[in-house]
Amino acid sequence: MQHSGFDVAVVGAGIVGLAHALAAARAGKRVVVIDRDPRANGASIRNFGFITVTGQQRGEHWTLARRTRDIWAEVAPEAGIPVEQKGLMLTLRRPEAIDVAEAFLDTEMGEGCHRLDGEQFRALHPEIAAPDALGALVSRHEVRVESRTALPSLVAWLKAAHGVTFLTETAVHSVVPPRLETSRGTVEAEVAIVCPGDDLCTLFPDRIAAYRPRKCRLSMLRLASPGFRLPAPVMSDLSLVRYEGYAALPQAEALRRRLAVEQAAHLANGVHLIVVQSADGSLVVGDSHHYDDLPPPFAPAEAENCILDEFTRATGLNAPAVTERWVGTYPVADGRNYFIDAPADNVRIAIVTSGSGASTGFAIGERTIADLFGLKIGDLA
Ligand SMILES: Cc1cc2nc3c(=O)[nH]c(=O)nc-3n(C[C@H](O)[C@H](O)[C@H](O)COP(=O)(O)OP(=O)(O)OC[C@H]3O[C@@H](n4cnc5c(N)ncnc54)[C@H](O)[C@@H]3O)c2cc1C
Repeated sequence: MQHSGFDVAVVGAGIVGLAHALAAARAGKRVVVIDRDPRANGASIRNFGFITVTGQQRGEHWTLARRTRDIWAEVAPEAGIPVEQKGLMLTLRRPEAIDVAEAFLDTEMGEGCHRLDGEQFRALHPEIAAPDALGALVSRHEVRVESRTALPSLVAWLKAAHGVTFLTETAVHSVVPPRLETSRGTVEAEVAIVCPGDDLCTLFPDRIAAYRPRKCRLSMLRLASPGFRLPAPVMSDLSLVRYEGYAALPQAEALRRRLAVEQAAHLANGVHLIVVQSADGSLVVGDSHHYDDLPPPFAPAEAENCILDEFTRATGLNAPAVTERWVGTYPVADGRNYFIDAPADNVRIAIVTSGSGASTGFAIGERTIADLFGLKIGDLA
């Protein structure tokens, strides 16, 4: 079988591939997306669906996240994707955590954020105020979608509203535009963008290896509904030493030292807390971080115990029953949240090497397409 007449071929139908497909379609290009699976099944549907701005690394990454959040806000209603939650509530339990929150609020990233003291927090949100809560950092920037249904909705909308073609159950073996060789024959396109997620060895393995990537495995849980709606997605003290937007502030050092004594097992398992809530009231809770060139599928129970322990410490709630468990992986590379590599003038490799592809993918897609076609980003809106 031969498929021809495309301007842009995107390999990979995860969120990064779909983001590039959207930017290319908005630029008026005829787009085909090719994936070896029948539908997205990787990191893009295993994540929290938490489009996070506050806490992303200061500078470019934070800017990419703001733009991506804006695109989600435009796309979600058009594509019939419900926004399940908005904003962020990061609970604070230690004076050192308050110092980090205050330092954060003093930066440009603090715009649209504020801090509640313990009394205000308890009065406004008694249902998630732990006995030792000293307050919360509140952000209004975030949106949260249910990724496992949002991704299929995004695909359907890209097909219907933007005429994007999808070739599924089709593995791409080689990319030399205008020809891409696949398990179902040749696809012809002028330009190719490879968004392979954590498949680092099928296409351009040597180009990708130059970034010295490894993989990170995360443990995730779904808990039964606690019986009430959370005011926003919840994070906690541990997040302040993991998310670069906070962790790179000098004030984070004292918190890190204290956590190393008080929550050593959590740090050893790379555990911090994100709690998001679905339409049925259930909670998606995580996560842990274990790094390897090939993360084994054997997730340690200790990591799960640490996640549930932090849930209780941060919210004061007994954890509701676990209803689902899963792991996910994404690639990581030292010193980079993502990279765009150009093996040829008409080929790009786009890989998010941090746990932020849902939060930055749309803006990265715009940059790649603008660069490939000599366009201004404003032309793609
Ligand atoms: C547990 C977990 C929680 C996370 N939480 C968040 C969060 O809340 N917010 C956030 O912003 N980020 C989060 N992330 C990170 C985010 O999910 C990832 O950065 C993002 O999903 C990566 O998208 P992707 O499209 O690059 O990869 P993927 O979703 O893995 O998609 C890659 C696709 O490429 C296809 N593919 C690869 N090679 C080929 C080939 N040769 N031929 C055909 N198809 C191919 C695969 O089949 C796959 O469908 C989380 C990640 C995990 C694992």
